[in-house]
Amino acid sequence: TTTDAGGGLRTPIVAVLGHVDHGKTSLLDKVRGSAVTSGEAGAITQHIGATAVPLATISDIAGRLVDPDDFDLPGLLFIDTPGHHSFSTLRSRGGALADIAVLVVDVNDGFQPQTLEAIDILKRTQTPFIVAANKVDTTPGWNPQPDTPIQQSLEAQSDRAEQTLNEKLYEIIGELSDNDFSADMYWRVQNFRGNIGVVPVSAETGEGVPDLLAVLMGLSQRYMKEEMSIDTTGPGAGTVLEVKEERGFGTTLDVVLYDGSIRTDDTVVVGAKNDPIVTEVRALLQPQPLAEIRTEKRFEKVDEVSAAAGVKIAAPDLDDALAGAPVRVVRDRSEAEVIEEVREELAEIEVDTAEN
Ligand code: GDP
Repeated sequence: TTTDAGGGLRTPIVAVLGHVDHGKTSLLDKVRGSAVTSGEAGAITQHIGATAVPLATISDIAGRLVDPDDFDLPGLLFIDTPGHHSFSTLRSRGGALADIAVLVVDVNDGFQPQTLEAIDILKRTQTPFIVAANKVDTTPGWNPQPDTPIQQSLEAQSDRAEQTLNEKLYEIIGELSDNDFSADMYWRVQNFRGNIGVVPVSAETGEGVPDLLAVLMGLSQRYMKEEMSIDTTGPGAGTVLEVKEERGFGTTLDVVLYDGSIRTDDTVVVGAKNDPIVTEVRALLQPQPLAEIRTEKRFEKVDEVSAAAGVKIAAPDLDDALAGAPVRVVRDRSEAEVIEEVREELAEIEVDTAEN
């Protein structure tokens, strides 16, 4: 990691996982929705396959829970495709692509098979995570307090409702403990390295969403600052989310870039079915901003993208590229060296998937 010319702090990459129907999609939608209505200029940026929520917007949503002066990380980048399947195949240099994860657990349903699978993957990849104990609004007698921090919302609940919810929350804490994680309500956790913070939330009412963002931001700032220090102008490194046919562009790659930058005309090496592909970037594409959606052009061309970001790469010869495979910018290095790097990393991923 270098911090010279292009030294900077990148956005941590956040993945959302958990059992089907526990509310992953709803929670992501709620975060996006809160950001859009937060009133902050440039509240969110829609990337290819990801949503960037800047610090100013997080602070606006989280209110007194996030003082922007306490942070120098630029915000959070949420991967839009939830689910542990995509999570487990998305790697960066042997680790998980996501720097941090939100494990969503329905308070009524508790741990389910896919919750356990997700936990196994988080353990194996040593990904720090928090638990979003979702659907608190379904507690009998719940008095909804839209978009408020959870402790404030709890004060507005009857003793009976609060007690009912607490029982469910402690069941989740118990289940985490059965899986070798010591856990507690997030506001009681001092050391997030050794303990899992549980954040009660509702993706329906937005209660606890301020807390969720505050905890993700706080954890990243406290424990990940070093990993986030990158050379934002160095040769880019990323992971393929999807290989997609796109009218007018042929086969394209949706990529999450986690290091350096990528530019139009860069030579890139991409992991593929057989030998790695070596090709030249024709265009870098981002979603068209909402205001301009009527132009019917879905994408806008950009000259350069810096980590962390989601971007679509249009280039020749991408047909054999693999989802989950590494993408590397060559730039000032030797092509052979980069090809070897990609080959080795791909071999590691394949060994790993074979084990499952
Ligand atoms: P996913 O499969 O994990 O992505 O789950 P979804 O986001 O699709 O949610 C599954 C169902 O639960 C949908 O009908 C949602 O409307 C509902 N749901 C999700 N979160 C909440 C919540 O916080 N409260 C309530 N009442 N319903 C929720």
